[in-house]
Amino acid sequence: MNDAMRRAAAIALLILGGAALWSAGSEAPASASANDAMVATIAAARERAAANDPRLKPAWRFEEGGWIYVHLEGDPGTVGYQHGYLLAPEIEDGFAAVSAGMTHSTERDWEFFRKAAREMLWPKIDAEYQQELQGIVDGLRARTGSKLDVYDIVAFNAFEELPDYYVPWLNKREKTANAPNLKSPGNCSAFVATGSWTKDGQIVMAHNNWTNYKNGERWRIVFDIAPKNGYRMLMDGFPGVIASDDDFGINSDGLMVTETTISQFEGWDPNGKAEFARARKALQYAGSIDEYTKIMLDGNNGGYANDWLLGDRKTGEIAQLELGLKAYKLWRTKDGVLAGSNWARDTKVLKEDTPQFDANNKENSPNARRARWEELLNENKGKIDVALAEKMLGDHTDTAEKKEDTNERTLCGHVDGSPRGVREWDWQPYYPGGAVQGKATDAAMTKEMRMMARMGHPCGGDFLAKPFLAAHPEYAWQEPYLRDMKAGPWTEFRSGQAKKE
Ligand SMILES: [Zn+2]
Repeated sequence: MNDAMRRAAAIALLILGGAALWSAGSEAPASASANDAMVATIAAARERAAANDPRLKPAWRFEEGGWIYVHLEGDPGTVGYQHGYLLAPEIEDGFAAVSAGMTHSTERDWEFFRKAAREMLWPKIDAEYQQELQGIVDGLRARTGSKLDVYDIVAFNAFEELPDYYVPWLNKREKTANAPNLKSPGNCSAFVATGSWTKDGQIVMAHNNWTNYKNGERWRIVFDIAPKNGYRMLMDGFPGVIASDDDFGINSDGLMVTETTISQFEGWDPNGKAEFARARKALQYAGSIDEYTKIMLDGNNGGYANDWLLGDRKTGEIAQLELGLKAYKLWRTKDGVLAGSNWARDTKVLKEDTPQFDANNKENSPNARRARWEELLNENKGKIDVALAEKMLGDHTDTAEKKEDTNERTLCGHVDGSPRGVREWDWQPYYPGGAVQGKATDAAMTKEMRMMARMGHPCGGDFLAKPFLAAHPEYAWQEPYLRDMKAGPWTEFRSGQAKKE
């Protein structure tokens, strides 16, 4: 017997031994602790067997600054397996928090989302990403014995597009009685600048992720992916999800990508391709602004409709792709700044894709932040660099009230501090959401595949769950999932980074 066979045989014996004791226990009830010990033995044997899987050899994980860094490498199934295995506890935890939110807001059961994933999304996902998603399931099961299957994982990957784009479209179409008031999300504050706007004349890009704290405090993965095909990627992300999804990423061909979501977007194409799969493909395969645009438009399903802010460090050019479903527009420049805070600006997109959005209301969150971006970026023209970008992401000026505050109108959002909430996203007063983390990079850093990231509010403020829930019992349903979100330090991550000894 070779080593591998000996190991396999030893593990099989362990598992069989455990199973024998287990069945003995079920006939004549053994003590709870004996059963627990047996379950633990089986789990440990499974974990040891999985840990020896050769697919895990090129992959690793470590934690720093509140983030979990994972390096994934290989063919699609292997990348998925590593992802599922290395992040198994975080995937189980993230899935529980996200799926609870999806079923709560839509008043649909989980089976509804599985069916949408299986029948609508899965057949149109490229084989490469089908393999990666199945790999996630395989890695997860190998590590924890998880019961989640590939349709659970696909529905989970679509958590930004199914509940707030597909479901309202379906409710309208089917004239669902008493349908909940679902609004597309408004995630993030971001900008990309180049030319005379930045300190070195090259591109600077920064983004903070706005979402509910329940999901946001789990949005703490740094993915370093070396795929068999396509470009190397460095991006932030969510455990179990194959796209960055908030989004912030760079690739080894010099493409820099972020976005902010278009508020009050309406529309869905059931025959389109899942947004998460297109966004991942675009980061992996686009080497230019044109290629990025082409991939995002191919099979556009209207899900998670964003204003994509792009940069190409090879040319110094930046772009904004306002990706509606009925309309879209691309702006590009080698000397300028493009900012986003959840408002559309193309007249056709505004009219056809966001008919409810009030572009003139200076007091709503998207427009107040738009005004602040204009002030802040103009004040700092010619001085913008990564250090300044980090500060901007933590900015607390409310342009509507013309004062410092922490609320829904500040670039660093704290909606839990706002008696108004955000009507446009159906975020009720004191909604536990806002800016949950920030990232920044520039062209020189992108060349070396480096980025800065801060977990928690980019200003450094903490969110504490217990006093919040005591003061706002209307959010008690989140209690099992809502945790403290404490800010970490700005931390540098780079491709191929090893754990600090
Ligand atoms: Zn803040």
